[in-house]
Amino acid sequence: MNPQPRKILEIIEPQTVIEGAGVRLKRSIATRTLNYLDPFLLFDHFGSDNPDDYLAGFPMHPHRGIETVTYILAGAVHHRDSTGNSGTIEAGDVQWMTSGRGIMHEEMPQPRQGKMAGFQLWVNLPAKLKMTQPRYQEIASDLIPEIDREDGVKIRVIAGAVDGVQGPVTETAADPTYLDVSIPPNGSFVQPIERGHSAFAYVFEGEGIFGMTDERDGKTVPHPKLIVFDDGDYVEVRATKQLVRFLLVSGKPLYEPIARYGPFVMNTREEIEQALRDLRNGTFV
Ligand code: FE
Repeated sequence: MNPQPRKILEIIEPQTVIEGAGVRLKRSIATRTLNYLDPFLLFDHFGSDNPDDYLAGFPMHPHRGIETVTYILAGAVHHRDSTGNSGTIEAGDVQWMTSGRGIMHEEMPQPRQGKMAGFQLWVNLPAKLKMTQPRYQEIASDLIPEIDREDGVKIRVIAGAVDGVQGPVTETAADPTYLDVSIPPNGSFVQPIERGHSAFAYVFEGEGIFGMTDERDGKTVPHPKLIVFDDGDYVEVRATKQLVRFLLVSGKPLYEPIARYGPFVMNTREEIEQALRDLRNGTFV
């Protein structure tokens, strides 16, 4: 069978939510419209020129059973945690954090030249890894390969592979692809995505044409929107007369029961109650 393009399953309008100590975010996964996209549990876009929208930050809070992936476009996020780890994620950097059995951390946004923008994705861990040792993959911007194609398409490869170039995030259970793609006006881009993996694009600059097939023209999608793709073998995107910039993310679904309560995502209610007990008894970390 010929490789099949992935059609659009759903276009999600990001919703404004207030999180942490009062941070205004655009949320596209973990809403009433889209609770999760197995293995992805949450997707937030933060970005504002108004410091009141983010300076309160995310003071000390726990996580268990998931990975959190923070990718900064502008400004910085200072973090420190219960394992003694601390640092600053700057523009272009990625932090891929495996909370495993438990981590307590704070994440405090800091503007640079008045700017702050980025994304946080939550990736589920399979039952057998939910109580694993916490782990960080902190990747500075200059260690993320950037592919500059002759046609003007630029791709930062955070996870997965493009043109034989492998991203620096490895050994993650979801076998993820995480790309930051810029297509110049009238340009186009095709990326194979393994059949059976969940996939989405998050458009955050300009507009692009998504979901074209042999029979259909595709749909023009302006930013900010999250596009959920149907199954297939590849994703094709074209720019209009405007450029388009988007994240392309895919991962292997777990097909396991999900019990979630705020920053804990486990398989059963009992495991959530255990997490809350551990927190109360001071045995969480
Ligand atoms: Fe957190």
